[in-house]
Order: sequence, then C-alpha cells, then structure tokens
Amino acid sequence: MDWARQINLKTPAEIAIMREAGRINALVLATVREMLQPGVSTADLDAAAEDVLKKHGAVSPFKGYGYPPFPNSITVSINEELVHGIPSASRKLKEGDIVSIDCGTVFEGYVADSAFTAGVGEISPKARKLLEVTEQALYEGIARMRSGNRTGDVSAAIQQYVESHGFHVVREYTGHGVGRQMHEGPQVPNYGKPGTGLPLRPGMVIALEPMVLVGTHKTKVLKDKWTVVSADGSLTAHFEHSVAVTEGDPLILTVL
Ligand code: MG
Ligand code: MG
Repeated sequence: MDWARQINLKTPAEIAIMREAGRINALVLATVREMLQPGVSTADLDAAAEDVLKKHGAVSPFKGYGYPPFPNSITVSINEELVHGIPSASRKLKEGDIVSIDCGTVFEGYVADSAFTAGVGEISPKARKLLEVTEQALYEGIARMRSGNRTGDVSAAIQQYVESHGFHVVREYTGHGVGRQMHEGPQVPNYGKPGTGLPLRPGMVIALEPMVLVGTHKTKVLKDKWTVVSADGSLTAHFEHSVAVTEGDPLILTVL
C-alpha cells in the first residue's frame, strides 16, 4: 500500500455517518456469521451480504476494487488463506474450517471496514487459540488509539500480544485510515515500536486489522492475483474494526 496516503480528520457529523455505515457493516457480518455451516458455499455468503447491503441502501467498496477488479462484496478466506479470498459457488465450507469474512460498506459516501474469523462446527484447540489471540490483539491495539499516542504504540501493542502467544504478524498488509476512501492515511502496521509513527488526533478514523499466522509471518498470493495465503500453509486469522480517535475513549464504529 502507498505510505503517503492523505490523512483526513473527520468532523463529528462525518463520524456519525460513518457510525451508521459501521452499523450496517456489522449487520452484514452478523448475518454471514449465522450461516457458517458445513456445505454452505462462499458464494452463498457473498449473496447474503449483498442482500443486507442493498436493503440498507449501501454497497461494498470491494466490488470492482483493484486489478483484476475484485468480483464480490465480501472476501472469504479459509484456513491458510489470510485475506482477499474470492467467493465461489464451488467452494463449500467444511467442519473444522476457520473462515475469515471481510466486508466493507459505503453508506452516504463514507466507508466502514470490518472483519472477523470464526470456526465451522468443532475446530481444533490450536485454531481456537489463534482466533482468541487475534481478536484480543485487535482490542489491545484499539485500547492504544487515544489522542496523544502514536501509531507505533498501536502497532507495537498488537505485535507484542501476538508474539507473546507464539504466533506471527503479517508484514505486507496493514491497518489504514478510512473515510470517503477505503484506504486513507495513516498506515498502521501490525508491527512497530512504541513512541514512533504519527501522533493520533481526534477525528482520525482507522481500520485496525491484525492478521495473524501460526507458523511464519511470510505470505504469498495465489494465481487468482487476490487470495493471500501463509507461505507455509499454516492457519491464519484476521479481525478488523473501524475505530475513531476521540478526545476520550476510542469509538468502535463497526458494531451493531
Ligand atoms: Mg477489511
Ligand atoms: Mg481494511
């Protein structure tokens, strides 16, 4: 990603619209989460997500994004697939899979971006620990999103939490500012040093997104030019919220 993207501070009125976008996005994710059963295709999940978006007068910023243009409204990434998996009618969920769903919502010109990973039926103890650590890493990062802290404080909190549990953080993909564009500044990596990076200020909205791998921090991209997998085939997980920096506590926008 481009390191020099512009940082746009949001007014309270803009953050209120982004909160609505975040609520719709949370509804999409809750709908898809309920569908995670063996035999369901990843295209079924995408279709259900599109229905919810349409019902709320929203669209996904993912559809048509990048090159080749991303064909769907959500990304569905299973097991060793970390992010950006393309939904398909032939890809069916299986018992024991862990599935990462990432969705964006554009509502009244503003973007919300959020993701979660969950199991299909019974999952292994290792997979369960990976999900717990990755989700908690997100909240460790969010807790540092306070005015006066720096982006490196957030990044370091995520990295330290993940590595203290023996897992790895991705290097090539990062958290990012979000607003009228899906990707704005500042870039917030999942690794870093406390006291470095840009100062956080009220009005910044950042999509924070720990991406965690069991066996390595290295990734590769499949031939479809989108799906990112762990280089060693080990399990991966991804959690994301869009969060506003305020004068006080961080405000998570992508919840119901
Ligand atoms: Mg996302
Ligand atoms: Mg994102």
